[in-house]
Amino acid sequence: MVVVGSGPNGLAAAVTCARAGLAVLVVEAQPEPGGGARTLDLGLAPGLVHDLCSAVHPLAVVSPFLRELDLAARGVELVHADAAYAHPLDGGRAGVVHRSLDRTVDGLDVDGPAWRRVLGPFVDHADALVDVVLGDRVRLADGPLAHGPTALRLVAGLLEQAVGGLGSRFRGDVAPALLTGVGAHANVRLPAPVAAGTALVLATLAHVSGWPVPRGGSRAITDVLVADLLAHGGELVVGVTVADLDALPRARAYLFDTTPRTAVRVLGRRLPPGRARALSRFPYGNGVAKVDLVLSGPVPWQHPAVGRAGTVHLGGSRAQIARAENDVAAGRHARHPVVLVSDPTVADPSRLGPTGLRPLWAYAHVPAGSTRDMTEAITAQIERFAPGFRDVVVASRGVPASRMSEHDANYPGGDIGSGVVSAYRLLARPRLAVDPYRLGVPGAYLCSASTPPGPGVHGMSGWHAARRALRDRFGITRMPDLAPAPALPR
Ligand SMILES: Cc1cc2nc3c(=O)[nH]c(=O)nc-3n(C[C@H](O)[C@H](O)[C@H](O)COP(=O)(O)OP(=O)(O)OC[C@H]3O[C@@H](n4cnc5c(N)ncnc54)[C@H](O)[C@@H]3O)c2cc1C
Repeated sequence: MVVVGSGPNGLAAAVTCARAGLAVLVVEAQPEPGGGARTLDLGLAPGLVHDLCSAVHPLAVVSPFLRELDLAARGVELVHADAAYAHPLDGGRAGVVHRSLDRTVDGLDVDGPAWRRVLGPFVDHADALVDVVLGDRVRLADGPLAHGPTALRLVAGLLEQAVGGLGSRFRGDVAPALLTGVGAHANVRLPAPVAAGTALVLATLAHVSGWPVPRGGSRAITDVLVADLLAHGGELVVGVTVADLDALPRARAYLFDTTPRTAVRVLGRRLPPGRARALSRFPYGNGVAKVDLVLSGPVPWQHPAVGRAGTVHLGGSRAQIARAENDVAAGRHARHPVVLVSDPTVADPSRLGPTGLRPLWAYAHVPAGSTRDMTEAITAQIERFAPGFRDVVVASRGVPASRMSEHDANYPGGDIGSGVVSAYRLLARPRLAVDPYRLGVPGAYLCSASTPPGPGVHGMSGWHAARRALRDRFGITRMPDLAPAPALPR
């Protein structure tokens, strides 16, 4: 079996199939494996590493695939900051979300009880919520139908939030901004059902299992996957861009951890023209522009509690965020863009460099394909809520949206979702089909974030696609055990 691409989903598929006893070859275009889960020395400061893409892992910690693999038993330490995320507002105010729902509710004063009413029911049924969001939608046994009440509650909740605007149940302005900042992870026009769903799911996970970072950076997850693949006889080749199926060894199954368009190109005339057209029509979303910074000290947030959060959402009030997101969706750069900041050192002091320098990771939402270096815009947005920030910046490196695909071809135009995220496109991903993983040529499957459940480091697309390949091509109907080998008695 051949897997094209070694992101979390490609490696999840590869590990699953190698564990099932197949000979597996993974071919990766970049010089190192991991796709969106890589941590590299960018040459900004000696001994300092940055997460190239993903940094924070609310989905990895609940992913059924990664839980079966048992990251903790393999030495991956998922570490938590005191607060999961924070959202500063002008005037030195801020909302802070802790793992403890009670502590968060207490901090939200007048809107605390409403926060509990919105999120409490999801927190109480978190396992069902995870199954609805990450489960195999085609397998009714573990998909939404198995958790009808939770699925209906989610639909009702997201419709309420989408129609009224995120946080419409609240009286103050802090809680609505907090929820809108989480919903902005969808990077879409607001209000939108998918942003409301994103807010409800990610905000719930903050209270259930937190928003941790892996000690040492996201590559810790990749390292575990690669080690397991190699330990089970798999092979990994890096630095080879697959452009044509004929360049690959013959195999009974090919799994593509790529965009649908790449799969169409590689499969060429083997794909029926109608199917090729349908896959090529899968649309891409708005972009992000990344900035990696090196700081001489902590970010001087005006509200000190913000500095105890691992993730910070910037953009101001609910209305200001909606304005910025809608500018981007209309193809314009926002004057004050939505910015996401991850400060890994807050949870993981091992990320400090030898001379005490600290990495900071940030990105801004921009129109698809934007060529603008957002370093100044992101710096200004942080400075707005952390006066004096410029004084602690020692070095920086901006990557415009148009260049994000140089690091990973799955992010064309800076779309880090590998395809539009919308309520419809989370189901019809990459096309409306009973089975979205089968590409239309026997033995060819798409397994990237361009299939359900969509973006994020969870490996579930790879796991779901591997299930099909094992069954269709090798007659294997029982998914292999993924648990680490028990330690030998000393
Ligand atoms: C800036 C940024 C921040 C993010 N933040 C988070 C976060 O904090 N938390 C989170 O959960 N998610 C985050 N994400 C999203 C997450 O990284 C992705 O959703 C996830 O990595 C998708 O996994 P994947 O395996 O589908 O694809 P990818 O991780 O994108 O991997 C695809 C791999 O395929 C390779 N490839 C593509 N085409 C070819 C080809 N033709 N030949 C050979 N190899 C090929 C690529 O080089 C790449 O290695 C972020 C992404 C970015 C870019």
